Amino acid sequence: MARFAGQRSANLDPTARGWRAGEIGGVEVRIDPSLLLIAALVTFSLAAGTLPREVPRLNAALYWLFGALAACIFILSILWHEMAHALLGLRYRIPVKRIVLHLFGGVAFIARDPERPAHEFWIAISGPLSSLFLAFIFGALGNLPNLTGAVCNWLALINLTLALFNLLPGFPLDGGRILRAALWHFNGSYRKATRQASRVGQAVAALFVVFALLLFVNGFLFNALWFALIASFLYSNASISYRMSLGGLPSEAPLFRVLRHNVPLIDARLPLALLVWRYLNNAPDQAFPVFHNSALVGMITAEQVERVPRLDWGKIRVGDVMLPLSAFPILFVTEPLEHAKAQLDAYNVDHAPVFNGTQFVGMVNRRDIVHPT
Ligand SMILES: [Zn+2]
Repeated sequence: MARFAGQRSANLDPTARGWRAGEIGGVEVRIDPSLLLIAALVTFSLAAGTLPREVPRLNAALYWLFGALAACIFILSILWHEMAHALLGLRYRIPVKRIVLHLFGGVAFIARDPERPAHEFWIAISGPLSSLFLAFIFGALGNLPNLTGAVCNWLALINLTLALFNLLPGFPLDGGRILRAALWHFNGSYRKATRQASRVGQAVAALFVVFALLLFVNGFLFNALWFALIASFLYSNASISYRMSLGGLPSEAPLFRVLRHNVPLIDARLPLALLVWRYLNNAPDQAFPVFHNSALVGMITAEQVERVPRLDWGKIRVGDVMLPLSAFPILFVTEPLEHAKAQLDAYNVDHAPVFNGTQFVGMVNRRDIVHPT
């Protein structure tokens, strides 16, 4: 599990995730600690395996030097991939706040969803295309002599892998976004396209589970673990997108106008550390609905988390400190805004979950009700 490196103050600064590495063209670049694990693994596997096999009988220090160099260039390759997304986002006037490089590659945090299928398509495909370009360049340099050539060949292969992995049609990978853009273009509905693309994402995750099992029974334990990690990452993200896209919503309903849709559903058993790392760091002023066995059981905000000493975040779970159902109102999409505000006042809270019938559809924030845009 990731540590909270770089976080010393008690407040939940959204930019506190990982280490700040610098800024490129106004886009902040951060490095998640999990990436260091990958860099170490890459260096080790190159220095102790690939390089001595490709170019034998050299000084061991040289293998380690070139292994470490390759790991650095690999991280820069991921940055290159994410910068491509960021640049295309800027081209469509979608501000990119920051890029975080982590275990599974990287994420470019763009401020909002694209407005048109074509924008989404180009933003999504720019990453894999830029990785393919790098694979081509390194492949061309693969004929260089000795270790330089061996490292270039490895970098060509890893960038090709990065491109192909990201092109898998599973949310939230680039391929999943490309698929959504295509579905959105052909059926005209962003919501329906999201639903369909998320379903494909779950299917891809299921395939990864099958791969993981095959690798496991054949004795490739490390690779099996790796595939299982990716599968769980894909499945949970695809499931969230799917649930978010369910339920035909009356877009003219008063509360619907100020609804925040893309709210992650928090499992009551989630440790606080993971809540902070995955969700709160990116949205410190938000409240999240807490679910247990698909039923709403509470709501959690930064306020409850901050009351718990940081050292206990690993063992205390969301369900232990959340606001119980009795502490906040449940609102419905058809409710008038004044009524919603009166309910928030009555419970003295700033957030509430919103339902459409029995279906959870999002959260409202007092600020958005008082100043609807
Ligand atoms: Zn990408």
